[in-house]
Amino acid sequence: MALESTPNHTQTVAGWAAHDSSGKIVPFIFKRRENGVNDVTIKVMYCGICHTDLHHVKDDWGITMYPVVPGHEITGVITKVGSNVKNFKIGNRVGVGCLAASCLECEFCKNSQENYCDQIQFTYNGIFWDGSITYGGYSKMLVADHRYVVRVPDNLRMDAAAPLLCAGITVFSPMKDCQLLDSPGKRVGIVGLGGLGHVAVKMAKAFGHHVTVISTSPSKEIEAKQRLGADCFIVSTNDEQMQRGKRTLDVILDTVSAQHSLGPILELLKVNGTLAVVGAPGRPMELPSFPLIFGKRAVRGSMTGSMEETQEMMDVCGKLNITCDIELIKPDQINEALDRLARNDVRYRFVIDIAGNSQL
Ligand code: NAP
Ligand code: ZN
Repeated sequence: MALESTPNHTQTVAGWAAHDSSGKIVPFIFKRRENGVNDVTIKVMYCGICHTDLHHVKDDWGITMYPVVPGHEITGVITKVGSNVKNFKIGNRVGVGCLAASCLECEFCKNSQENYCDQIQFTYNGIFWDGSITYGGYSKMLVADHRYVVRVPDNLRMDAAAPLLCAGITVFSPMKDCQLLDSPGKRVGIVGLGGLGHVAVKMAKAFGHHVTVISTSPSKEIEAKQRLGADCFIVSTNDEQMQRGKRTLDVILDTVSAQHSLGPILELLKVNGTLAVVGAPGRPMELPSFPLIFGKRAVRGSMTGSMEETQEMMDVCGKLNITCDIELIKPDQINEALDRLARNDVRYRFVIDIAGNSQL
């Protein structure tokens, strides 16, 4: 259904959209719904550029509905509050991540796992309850149901906190599931040192673990150790280093955005170890049986996190002072940033200064 035909979509918003699989982003004027009783309106300040945005603008997954306004790492300030909303006020510093709507009735919605609701709808390229296509944070203003909004702790910078809304929660949730939050001293591996990977390293270190980065980029080693605090660095294309790393890790998080084999990564796990896959290449990854069965290893997936978990993650990051290492850009640099992201040339997340608040 075209957005313009949805009755209460009367608010005109300036944003940035891709119109086809060339992925080129151009300015785009569109409509958003009026602020409903359960909604808050947010003046968008910053929006991170997640690799998922790149997958979407290029239609890597074959599911993109054009025009697509990407962006699900959003921080901003509340400017309107619906009459049913009790937990937010005008002026609150808030964040919006991947989730825009869920059924609110299934076992997952009732159990604070609404990210696994089978009717989940995302912040962009989703279909909202009113039938409209959702448009994300590459835009000046957002209307969000308050159940999918979190608070940003006062001590965190709004620009460097923005990527926590997707990159942060996506690595926090499987770390929590693998009991890494409250049992320090584990050997943790992070595959892929990009947006997700770099925040995973920071979190795993802050939770008291020994952290090994497994990367295709030897040039990232010094920074990984000196700046992010990693203990070890394995270049995944170096057979000798991979051999030496065999059976050394308890838990591995795979954040790689491109197709690759899971076999060599599984070999790095101890017997009984767990590989949590969060990277989402468009094509299937190779999963050989031998490294799986010889080490009684498990492979699991994880998709962002629930809203309760996202708030918990923001609060933990506030307490431990964890934010992302970002490169701040202006909206007219989005295409350049997407090109650089595709070439694996970012340290470690681009964030768009949507409101033009920062001196760039
Ligand atoms: P990113 O910043 O581009 O980082 C991905 C990293 O993967 C790169 O920095 C690179 O690290 C490594 N890499 C890239 N190409 C590779 C290749 N051909 N072989 C091996 N390694 C390669 O991306 P991101 O924003 O962190 O997102 C990563 C993936 O997670 C994307 O597929 C994204 O869609 C997905 N994602 C999933 C969820 C979820 O809910 N599960 C949420 C957000 C994002 P090195 O240079 O260190 O090798
Ligand atoms: Zn994302």
